[in-house]
Amino acid sequence: SDALVGTVADAMERADGVRRLEVRANADTPEDAARARRFGAQGVGLCRTEHMFLGERRKLVEAMILARDESERARVLGELLPLQRQDFRGILEAMDGLPVTIRLIDPPLHEFLPDRTGLAVRIAAAEARGERPEPHDAELLGAVNRMHEENPMLGLRGVRLGLIVPGLVAMQVRAIAEAVVERTRAGGRPRAEIMVPLVGAVEELRIERAEVERVLAEVSAESGVPVRLPVGTMIELPRAALTAGRIAEAAEFFSFGTNDLTQTTWGFSRDDVEAEFFSAYLDKGIFATSPFESLDRDGVGRLVRIAVDEGRATRPDLKIGVCGEHGGDPESVHFFHAVGLDYVSCSPFRVPVARLEAGRAALPGTRTSDSR
Ligand code: PEP
Ligand code: MG
Repeated sequence: SDALVGTVADAMERADGVRRLEVRANADTPEDAARARRFGAQGVGLCRTEHMFLGERRKLVEAMILARDESERARVLGELLPLQRQDFRGILEAMDGLPVTIRLIDPPLHEFLPDRTGLAVRIAAAEARGERPEPHDAELLGAVNRMHEENPMLGLRGVRLGLIVPGLVAMQVRAIAEAVVERTRAGGRPRAEIMVPLVGAVEELRIERAEVERVLAEVSAESGVPVRLPVGTMIELPRAALTAGRIAEAAEFFSFGTNDLTQTTWGFSRDDVEAEFFSAYLDKGIFATSPFESLDRDGVGRLVRIAVDEGRATRPDLKIGVCGEHGGDPESVHFFHAVGLDYVSCSPFRVPVARLEAGRAALPGTRTSDSR
């Protein structure tokens, strides 16, 4: 088996020698980032910060929802700040010297709000016992009802949330900038990048970006450590791909979110690929494989090409990657190489496969059908 390990290492080395695509990993914890690095990842292409608001911190999310005024919300955000700073410091440390793309919060709200039915049942049970329901429950249910959406994936997500909830983006950017300052003072080489999710119009990005720059300037002035971080955007809505030329005016990098881009291009819910109808529909032979598994070149792929061309026409040095599930799919990696992306980002365990495929894609004579 030593011989086998040697052969794999050899193949990996050859692939690394020829590939043009950089391979990064999606990671939200220092442990995942360290694991990804051991597999050869050249950075974090997507840190999903919404995952940092689960578990114990749900209580704080609840408190933020119920905040009656600015000062109460500011107090909750103040509690979240040191926790987030610590999250980012750990990941930057694990990836010291390599880029870490931190995405501002993008929660599908239904995964974070308290469960309406559970609250309603608790209130009804109290009433049935002839008791007064907990005022906290009643208040929370009212708030959750007011925020209820039939299609949360098409609702208050991504940049929209950042623009609607005062102070949320500022808190996250401050946590990132302060973590960068701490790592710099400790002699590290932190390379954080800030990414805005679910942008559909350059105006959204401009407003969000102004807030990001304001906070970066604030932390730079306070600390005496200049914090200048690249700011970029996800391209995961058809409108973003079609207006990429304008969006590139306000973005230093693009990262394709092919999960949402596939969902919104096809109009199939990414959360319902297990539904009975979907597999029955796949059996009709309309697609070769599920578009969520292997990139659909005619639709999603065409949008990717348009966005790459238009983005680079505006900004020739625009850095472009992909961080949806397709980033680790061998077939799709060949396509991303052919359209000229700079990197793919996938789950840590898929990094070795992505490295090999990126190498194969770069060998002369392979997959000529992918070239333009
Ligand atoms: C995507 O949409 O492809 C993406 C990477 O973002 P998320 O999966 O977190 O929506
Ligand atoms: Mg997405």
